[in-house]
Amino acid sequence: MVQHDLIVRGATLPGRTRRYDIAVTAGRIASITPHVTQPGIAADRCVEEAEGRLVMPGFVDSHVHLDKSCLMGCACGGVGGLKGAIAAVSAAKRGFTSEDVYARGARTLEKAILKGTTHMRTHVEVDPRVGLVSFEAMLELKRRYAFAIDLSVCVFPQEGLTNDPGTEALLLRALDAGADLLGGCPYTDTDPQAQIERLFAIAVERDLDLDLHLDFDLDPHGALLFDICRQATRHAWQGRVAIGHVTKLSAMDEDGFLRAATALADAGVAVTALPATDLYLTGRDRRADIPRGIAPVHRLFAEHGVLASLATNNVLNPFTPFGDGSLLRMAQLYANAMHVRPEGFELCLDLVTRLPARLMRLETYGLEVGAAADFVILDAPDAISALAELPTVVAAYKRGRRTFRCDPARLDAPPEEGL
Ligand SMILES: [Zn+2]
Repeated sequence: MVQHDLIVRGATLPGRTRRYDIAVTAGRIASITPHVTQPGIAADRCVEEAEGRLVMPGFVDSHVHLDKSCLMGCACGGVGGLKGAIAAVSAAKRGFTSEDVYARGARTLEKAILKGTTHMRTHVEVDPRVGLVSFEAMLELKRRYAFAIDLSVCVFPQEGLTNDPGTEALLLRALDAGADLLGGCPYTDTDPQAQIERLFAIAVERDLDLDLHLDFDLDPHGALLFDICRQATRHAWQGRVAIGHVTKLSAMDEDGFLRAATALADAGVAVTALPATDLYLTGRDRRADIPRGIAPVHRLFAEHGVLASLATNNVLNPFTPFGDGSLLRMAQLYANAMHVRPEGFELCLDLVTRLPARLMRLETYGLEVGAAADFVILDAPDAISALAELPTVVAAYKRGRRTFRCDPARLDAPPEEGL
């Protein structure tokens, strides 16, 4: 008889009405059935009563900057805006130590874990100002928190590649030392096209996925996404390239948007919207009719089949002086800012779960038999309520082992109130 290590009883699953039991064996989902009649569970093993609560696959944050999180000290004052944020962090990172980066990164990573994130891609800045200090801290975070989260490390040149001597050599050293993929930021390079070409050359030579910051302004013209699509097609890198922000998509007319969406779909390039940062940094020159500046990724996916995701990006720093690591909150922020109606709420949850899992090419992800038992239990009866109400994440499991538990708040009413 199979010895299950864990059974979650009475779970409500996204898109389904009845309750299910989820059995886990050796860190994988062994069955999802209305009732596990022969649990075969050892006395010292675990049974979790979901009591009708929503169980979802763990949240997947495909774009975070752990290395520069929790820098509120340099988020106050200064000139503000995108250039001001880059300059403030550029000055601060000269003083970074691995211990300092580790401590700030751990604070953000723990928050994300406690909000139900089970997979994350962190970007990390590598250049002559900070060297490999932040990168080495990321490797240590990846190792120490592996019990709760799979951390993928994406090294990138925040302040330019072709104009910043020594940066490429450091990126290559980081890739040799275990970085998972390569990022980029052409808009800070004096020659954006040359940066794009060089990044593709390195990616192809080393068989790496690419994830670039791109088109981060509200001018609908001059989008570099078309260059990215051409390069992805030329190198047969479809399905291995993601671009983040792409706020130009929010400013295009319908014809322009259609051309961009078609190019992205044909080239297999994914788009990640970063609502907290995009709302905070774009349109700052306006005093009325302030634009949202968020790429409509739900439309890209639903109407054009472009792989898309929503992610956290920055937490408590000059780029975004907010953040609790919650992707559920990010999905709600996106839905609210983008006029998404309740019938679109489940898609917004897909944008922080199964779609970024595809973007990150996670092979064992999902609430299905055989997948890794990485899931969360939310204090909500269904997916629409979860997006609308931001319920407590009451527990998360990583490879079938519980990583935390958090009981929802309950009123302490005096007995005579009869509540
Ligand atoms: Zn970013």
